[in-house]
Amino acid sequence: SNKSSSFGFELKTPERLPFILFDYDQNIYPRGANFLASRLQQPSIVKAAVPPPGKGTRVRVWKSDPSVKTIGIRELFLINTDIKSGPVDTWFETKSTAKPIAPDANGDFLLDFDNTPSQAPNESDNHTRFDVVHTFSTVRYTYDLLLGDLEYLDGNPPQITRPWGNKRLQIFPHAGEDANAYYSREEGALKFFFTKRKDGTPIFLCRSLDVVAHEAGHSFLDILQPQWRSDGQTGGFHEAFGDLCSLFVLISMADIADLFVTLTKANLRDPNNFLSAVGEEFGDALFNNKGKGLRNLSNDLIGSKAQPEVHALSLVFSGFYYDVLVDVFALERNPAIKGDTDTLLDVATILRRALIIAIRVSSESSTQTKFQELATNLETAFETLSRRLGVNLSSWTEIVRKHAKARELSIAGLS
Ligand SMILES: [Zn+2]
Repeated sequence: SNKSSSFGFELKTPERLPFILFDYDQNIYPRGANFLASRLQQPSIVKAAVPPPGKGTRVRVWKSDPSVKTIGIRELFLINTDIKSGPVDTWFETKSTAKPIAPDANGDFLLDFDNTPSQAPNESDNHTRFDVVHTFSTVRYTYDLLLGDLEYLDGNPPQITRPWGNKRLQIFPHAGEDANAYYSREEGALKFFFTKRKDGTPIFLCRSLDVVAHEAGHSFLDILQPQWRSDGQTGGFHEAFGDLCSLFVLISMADIADLFVTLTKANLRDPNNFLSAVGEEFGDALFNNKGKGLRNLSNDLIGSKAQPEVHALSLVFSGFYYDVLVDVFALERNPAIKGDTDTLLDVATILRRALIIAIRVSSESSTQTKFQELATNLETAFETLSRRLGVNLSSWTEIVRKHAKARELSIAGLS
């Protein structure tokens, strides 16, 4: 196909992995897994220009959503130097009722969010402008992370075919009233709506970092596997990938990872943790879920019990990969040698990249055994990353096998 030839090698057949994935550090040294961190940064294999220090763009975003009070609004550093008044860049443009928002003299978008009641549909200009910057920035950050993974894996800046056409993806923070947010290839858009609580106050989906990262994840998966349909196991995986994007985006922020470790005492199974909970504000408003989110990745849903609806079905796979994160973190954890926050950051980075590899080596077709296919390909991914990192990840493979079986991935949603 055009897509595989544009990448220059066939990525779809596990037996024929791109040579470059095996062309680095063939030796597997018997080192402790705590050696991983120093091997994660390998600038010598990346040919892209690194932005000089002091450049890039600072923005302000909700770091979870307005309901998660311990987090609030933080400044975020984007490495991008091409974000113009709008904001707009080569990938994304924002569409809203606000006039284009210009960066300040330093190239930053440091807006304040007035402490006034939110209203919909006639939200204040101040809140609208904050939403525009927050939503754009969260999508941009998510893409920076995932495009960076492709660059890390390939050793080159990725050549991307945009499934929505050769144009910018449009971001609509205020697309209207609906209890929803979505990515549409046909519209070439990410759309976020508002809905109302029982007391009539609005809740804006765009203000949830989880929701924005989730929708950005849909669009990114559509780049990697444009033929995966939105129903059945590929649809379930689309939803799981979106939720896992939210998780990985949060963990990738060092201050958030550290806050998580501090609040939960490094317990990924803490019932009130904000990492496994996706869409807290929305979950509270619609289902009174008290901070546990619209969905929670820390769950015990197994394949034979899963409903075929894609969001319900997704919990089997996202729960499976959260199990893997929990066990790998426990395996690698050794606070005497390396702090828990650093270990969590490293483990999550490797698992995120492994998932990207597993997606790329999986078949293009929308089969109904995609969950197990991905789990099997995670073994290939760990093998690849083992060679790359110079460590033995076979115990991680055992963890994947154990949980894939326990979760009944092979029959999820098929009964
Ligand atoms: Zn979704």
